[in-house]
Amino acid sequence: MRTKLIAGNWKMFHGGASGVELAAEVARIAARVPNVECVVAPPFTALAAVAQMVSEIGEQLGHRPIGVAAQNFYPEEKGAFTGEISARMIAEAGCHWVIVGHSERRQLFAETDAFVAKKVGVAIENGLHPIFCVGETLEERGAGATLEVVLRQVNAAKEALTAGKGGVVIAYEPVWAIGTGKNATPADAQEVHAAIRAALEPSLRERTRILYGGSVKPDNAAALLGQPDIDGALVGGASLDAAGFGAILRAAS
Ligand code: PEP
Repeated sequence: MRTKLIAGNWKMFHGGASGVELAAEVARIAARVPNVECVVAPPFTALAAVAQMVSEIGEQLGHRPIGVAAQNFYPEEKGAFTGEISARMIAEAGCHWVIVGHSERRQLFAETDAFVAKKVGVAIENGLHPIFCVGETLEERGAGATLEVVLRQVNAAKEALTAGKGGVVIAYEPVWAIGTGKNATPADAQEVHAAIRAALEPSLRERTRILYGGSVKPDNAAALLGQPDIDGALVGGASLDAAGFGAILRAAS
């Protein structure tokens, strides 16, 4: 059985005290929802404070109710990379997770399949759990190339996926569904998830969690999460509201 995982990608919102407040609210809700793992991904400037707060709540409860993810990092150990931060720095800030290859990084910051694959590997080497995003554009879907594109992106990271021994979480996020209010039907998403799972090495197939992302909301979460190969969700917009995000957690539970 794969434990469902719901991850909230806050993008460039809630970088300061409001991020700590939102994470505390999510942690309180998540602590009451059984059988679901929850992760939040604040901006860099809130990471250490959120991780510290989660660790304190964890000490009170005897377990950490949520995990903390960075949204990105640069895959070098150190050096003259102005404006970038390394995987080790993220781990030192108290994070255990990192989102890698989000379509906004691929599209706006020109991250290639090879660069994303390298980042998955470096995240693992630094003890972080990557949430590795893949997905096709509307144009690619229109051309009937969805599976070709998604499997190309997955296969580019094959070595890192093997090194991760099933600990890499894959997020299928059709680009046309991100922040648009449009989402893949549960059946369409399931088809892609099943194809991704089938493309994984046999030893990783049953262990690897594959999340769906793209306009997941409280009212469509249950139908998506009810599919056999959908092991959770990567949630953008709807993760900025603790009550709505809590409803998605409960749908997964
Ligand atoms: C995302 O940013 O990963 C995402 C899925 O966003 P949204 O839920 O807003 O579509």
